[in-house]
Order: sequence, then C-alpha cells, then structure tokens
Amino acid sequence: MSATVANAHRVTIVDGRVIGSRCSSCSFAVSPPLPRCPRCGGEQDAQDFPARGRIWASALIHLPVLDRDAARTRFSYVDIENGPRVLAAGDGPAPESDYPIGAAVILCETTSSITAIPVGKD
Ligand SMILES: [Zn+2]
Repeated sequence: MSATVANAHRVTIVDGRVIGSRCSSCSFAVSPPLPRCPRCGGEQDAQDFPARGRIWASALIHLPVLDRDAARTRFSYVDIENGPRVLAAGDGPAPESDYPIGAAVILCETTSSITAIPVGKD
C-alpha cells in the first residue's frame, strides 16, 4: 500500500512533493486528493505540488494536540504556489513573529502531521 493511500485522510508528502489533485474543469487544487472537486463537482486528476509555500493565516492553539508535548502549538494555513491551501503545524509554540502572513515556509512530514518550517530559520 502506498503512502498516498495509507494517509488519504490527511496531507501527505512523498519524495518532497505534496500529494493532491486538481480539477479538470475549474483547476481548483486540493490536498489530500479527492475524486470530485469541492468547488464545482468536476473530476479531479492526481497531481503533486512543491512542499513549500507562504503563510496565509496562523494561530497559536492552546491544546495538547497530535504528537506534540507542548500544550501550545502554532498552526498555519499555507498557500502552495499554484497549488492547494493546506493546514500545517508550526514548530511547537513558535511566536507569531516566526509565522507572519506571507512568510515563506518549507513543509515537512512528521509521524502525525505536516509541519511548516520558516525559510531561513535555523
Ligand atoms: Zn472544479
């Protein structure tokens, strides 16, 4: 079973690419892939996207979630260039200054989530 099928319920990165699909009618892109477009109902074709993008929105969540020990975790919506908008965890309770709107990030996959790492961060 491929990673794509095993993790079909969430965003997956394979060989450095975000697995998704794009509508053959309106070009709307999603990840994880869907059989039908959520925007127009058209057929979606499998496509992968670069694992990088820019922060669209970001918030610090005060709950212990996923596999993270910290009770606070930053989550961000990331717009992949010419691709879908995906939800990614931040680097623990990272400050908002690390995830400003429009900041470039690289997406990495962990055991239970996708993590957005700011470009240029150590
Ligand atoms: Zn569509």
